[in-house]
Amino acid sequence: MAQRPTDNIGKYLHNFPGGLKLRHHKALSCCKPLPARYLPLSTEYCIPVSQHLGQPAEVVVSVGQQVKKGQALSTPGKTGNAPGAFVHAPTSGEITAIEKRPVPHPSGLNSLCIVLQPDGKDRWVELEPVDDYRKLDCDELIQRVQAAGIVGLGGAVFPTDIKLQGTSCLINTLILNGVECEPYISCDETLMKQAPGKIIEGALILCHVFKIEKVIIAIEDPMDVCNLELEQSISEFNAGDCVEVIRVPMLYPEGGERQLIQVLSGHEVPAGQLPISLGILVQNVATVAAIRDAVIDGIPLIERLVTVTGAGIREPQNVHARIGTPIADLVDFCGGYTAGIARLVMGGPLMGLGLRNDQLPIIKASNCVLALTHADITSTQPEMPCINCGNCVSVCPAGLLPQTLQTVIRAENFEALESLNLDACIECGCCDYVCPSHIPLVDYFRYGKGEQRAQAKEKQESDIARLRFERREQRLEKQQAERLARHQRRKRALAGSSSKKDSVAAAIARAKARKQVLAANQPDTNSETGKGENS
Ligand code: SF4
Ligand code: SF4
Repeated sequence: MAQRPTDNIGKYLHNFPGGLKLRHHKALSCCKPLPARYLPLSTEYCIPVSQHLGQPAEVVVSVGQQVKKGQALSTPGKTGNAPGAFVHAPTSGEITAIEKRPVPHPSGLNSLCIVLQPDGKDRWVELEPVDDYRKLDCDELIQRVQAAGIVGLGGAVFPTDIKLQGTSCLINTLILNGVECEPYISCDETLMKQAPGKIIEGALILCHVFKIEKVIIAIEDPMDVCNLELEQSISEFNAGDCVEVIRVPMLYPEGGERQLIQVLSGHEVPAGQLPISLGILVQNVATVAAIRDAVIDGIPLIERLVTVTGAGIREPQNVHARIGTPIADLVDFCGGYTAGIARLVMGGPLMGLGLRNDQLPIIKASNCVLALTHADITSTQPEMPCINCGNCVSVCPAGLLPQTLQTVIRAENFEALESLNLDACIECGCCDYVCPSHIPLVDYFRYGKGEQRAQAKEKQESDIARLRFERREQRLEKQQAERLARHQRRKRALAGSSSKKDSVAAAIARAKARKQVLAANQPDTNSETGKGENS
């Protein structure tokens, strides 16, 4: 029998191309305090309806309406094919506005938000816990995950129910991604220390429903405490025969889904395919804990752990923040800013999103609020021409040619991007980091991807228009042919009826002629009678 890629997964560790060894900066926030604290209620929550990959959710509440904590505010849209996700109220209170507001998004554009003013009572909507998850089937589990609005909490924010729908029973290995490889971010590490049982129970739920044989929890080498906590929890759940913790060396971006699979299995996920093609499902540890809460307690995703850190924060730490909380409230809770604050970022220093201000809300993707000081920011030098040093090529974990991609994008030759595999770029920022010419390569790649998407959309629209035109032409041709056929039929029918008339006339003429002949040959009865009378 042929060996499956998952047969030896985790037995040996492998390498992926490129990558960077970076200073971690995690000690700043990682252990202080544990368990992580909960933020007090804010005076207002601004909840964007589009916090996931896919189409925006449809608002199902109105201004002035009173809502309860955990109540659905918007539901996945019913139009189009793109996935969607539920969004819920982070506390009870009144909806005071539904309007476009600034949100953390690379476009910098305002987006539709539901604004909630808390009533201070924090009253839950009625939850529907489950006594025994083993009674759930695949569809029921997926329905619960969808109703809870769970998305990938590692940063991808892809709706988890859609990811699970594509899973069916083809998976034999579940990888729980606890490799938080980007500097500063430590929310997953905190979760693994604080609530390992939730992660193990979430994994067991997925194993039960999808008949998964093996679970690997991947953590980074220095995460000793996590390892201990997870191992203890595995034995408490008696899950040692299927769940295993594996420590991988520290190398950025090892937490990328494809890179982690390569490290654990030695196999590359083929370009354009998903990990399922290797029989593997990868979930972030926080996502699996959220699945556990949704399935067992019926609790929707209304909060997440956020690392608030950087030299620009007085008391860096991890906090439980409700979705929609203003970032300023998190910063205040962590002692405020230090004097040298220079830049605010949502996420890590390499893949994070620069924020315009701290009034923007925490969203499901917010794993970290990073306040950098002037001393942290090195790349303020202007962009210089490429010197073809090749540094960017040697660190690219996707095996791409960043300098060629950049040249092609500058030349606006977007058609060439497909063959250069720009889609495979995970925007890890390794190339940016090592470029001696300070070229903002990732910005170019995001722009290039945006143009590719726009062109693909344009092509799709023109294909639809062409198809519509061709169908109309075919319809007109068909109508014309039918008209012609009808006309010919009528003509034939007319021709047929005139020949029928002729034959009727001929028959009448023949009958008349026969009558005349008969009349001519008939004896003169009048004369015979006369003869008789005379005689
Ligand atoms: S950002 Fe993209 S091109 Fe640059 S190193 Fe990462 S994967 Fe490669
Ligand atoms: S690292 Fe910068 S300068 Fe060097 S080849 Fe890449 S883009 Fe050019």
